[in-house]
Amino acid sequence: MSNQYRIIVLGEGGVGKSAVTIQFLQNHFITKYEPTLEETFRKQMEIDSEQCILEIIDTAGQEDYYSMRERYIKTGEGFLLVYSIISKTTFDKVNPLFESIQRVKESDKPSDTELVIPAVLIGNKSDLSDQRAVTKSEGEELAKSFGIPFFETSAKTSTNIKECFTTVVREMKKIRKPSKK
Ligand code: GDP
Ligand code: MG
Repeated sequence: MSNQYRIIVLGEGGVGKSAVTIQFLQNHFITKYEPTLEETFRKQMEIDSEQCILEIIDTAGQEDYYSMRERYIKTGEGFLLVYSIISKTTFDKVNPLFESIQRVKESDKPSDTELVIPAVLIGNKSDLSDQRAVTKSEGEELAKSFGIPFFETSAKTSTNIKECFTTVVREMKKIRKPSKK
């Protein structure tokens, strides 16, 4: 389905994956932390004058198990990689995460094509800058090393939330284009 975009939200527990997703879909901030809840959402929205159907998978604790994570990665086309700006350990987990995406996608693609992963790096909880443990430039540097866009977001104040989703869809559109005649 050409107007359907499957986005996987990945990152350590507690970084705000669900809060970011719910803020985007329902325009409110969730304060309750449900570490094991995995949900699939759909939203229709116009992006660059195309009606798009976004299928968003908000992942939960199980992705710590290698096979679970691999399954998400295999079925996903676009990725939101989320860490919390107030937790260095969640930031440090992003690199191995991106590497597993690369590994899975590399083995799935035809060998004569270049590997491009449509993804966006997200430093969430930007409203808590007084507790900041990861600088903005550390985030920017990491995103640059992956070759993907970067945003600092707040699910609480809704800062840059819509931008992340529209940007990852644009990244997905970019890699689809070459095959479209
Ligand atoms: P998940 O495990 O990644 O899905 O994390 P959640 O979305 O459940 O969020 C974990 C906790 O962090 C919850 O109590 C949220 O209310 C809180 N949280 C998430 N995003 C933000 C944010 O941008 N700002 C603040 N201040 N708290 C947040
Ligand atoms: Mg969650």
